[in-house]
Amino acid sequence: MPSEVSEFILPQSMILPFETVIPEELMQEAIRLARKAEYQTEPNPIVGALLADPQGNILSSGFHQKPGKAHAEVMALQGFEQVPPEATLYVTLEPCSHFGKTPPCAELLLQKQVKQVVVGCLDPNPLVAGRGVALLREKGVQVKVGLCEQDCIDLNPVFNKHIVTHLPYVTLKAATSLDGKIAMPSGESQWITGAEARAYGHLLRSRHQAIVVGSQTLLKDNPQLTNRIEPGQRQPIRIAFSSLGNIQEETSFLQNQETQRIVVAGCEIKDKQLQFLQSMGVKVLVAPTARPAVRWALEELYTLGICSLLVEGGAELVGSFLQEGLVDQLCLFLSGKLIASPEAPAWCGNLGISHLADVPHFKFKSVKPMGDDLLITGYLQ
Ligand SMILES: [Zn+2]
Repeated sequence: MPSEVSEFILPQSMILPFETVIPEELMQEAIRLARKAEYQTEPNPIVGALLADPQGNILSSGFHQKPGKAHAEVMALQGFEQVPPEATLYVTLEPCSHFGKTPPCAELLLQKQVKQVVVGCLDPNPLVAGRGVALLREKGVQVKVGLCEQDCIDLNPVFNKHIVTHLPYVTLKAATSLDGKIAMPSGESQWITGAEARAYGHLLRSRHQAIVVGSQTLLKDNPQLTNRIEPGQRQPIRIAFSSLGNIQEETSFLQNQETQRIVVAGCEIKDKQLQFLQSMGVKVLVAPTARPAVRWALEELYTLGICSLLVEGGAELVGSFLQEGLVDQLCLFLSGKLIASPEAPAWCGNLGISHLADVPHFKFKSVKPMGDDLLITGYLQ
């Protein structure tokens, strides 16, 4: 063999065994499958699964599409009476071990004689939480846990939160000037951010099950609270916090009856107002206190099946969510416009905190240019 060719042959020690390279690609493929049903599976997580042979060829695959529909493992294994003994099942989330709307997937894996399983992350659901993996191992299945673990955990921020806390995942959305203002002193606010940021704001609405505003925002801005950019996307349930339920009949909130509307009111709401709202097709949740506590409202909304909420303001309501520590994510659209007037309203109301050590602290996750603006995403520490 001529020497210039032999140079290109890797010595044996440098050839990586395929197990160290291919499994991650297979798990990333399972993650891509899971994402096909993003925002469509609540209250369930999105999950992807695939069956591969030792050469890394994908024999079959599947993902969870909707609540009540087959789990990803069921989809991936449906073509087999028994899977080939050398095949490995890759699944982004631990197979379930409990009876939900469908029978446990761990049992199905045993029935189909799956011998090797690679799991992305454990299921935080207290009903599963390692039991699925334990059951498989007990029956002699080889199970590896934690491949691309953080990517698999990141697939399901909403599920990971609600299944453990029994509270919805809360995103705060704000569009502000460079100095954190949401309008001019006159109230003029259209538009602080540009068209691209506003379009993304509409997309955010369709990515949450419900959208929340305070009664002052309804009064001042009369927002439609719908996703008007992405046709065919889901429309969120609309929720207004209003202690006395004083919502004007002509507001878009009451006039547009396309999606469910909920008013969170306090115990001092007048019967007449309560009946009026109900006559407009609104569900009214009456808190035991004059001013509904955010935690109480979130518990109630969770029992109605709401797992994710987008809070759009106003400043007072945002302040209440932050004071009670009930915020998960911040999506801040930051404009380059500088308002710089003490009379201009800010996006968050007075938190009444004296020490810097006690203020809410968001840890930034990403900054994305969006037209002339920036979208800053962060998580409350
Ligand atoms: Zn399952």
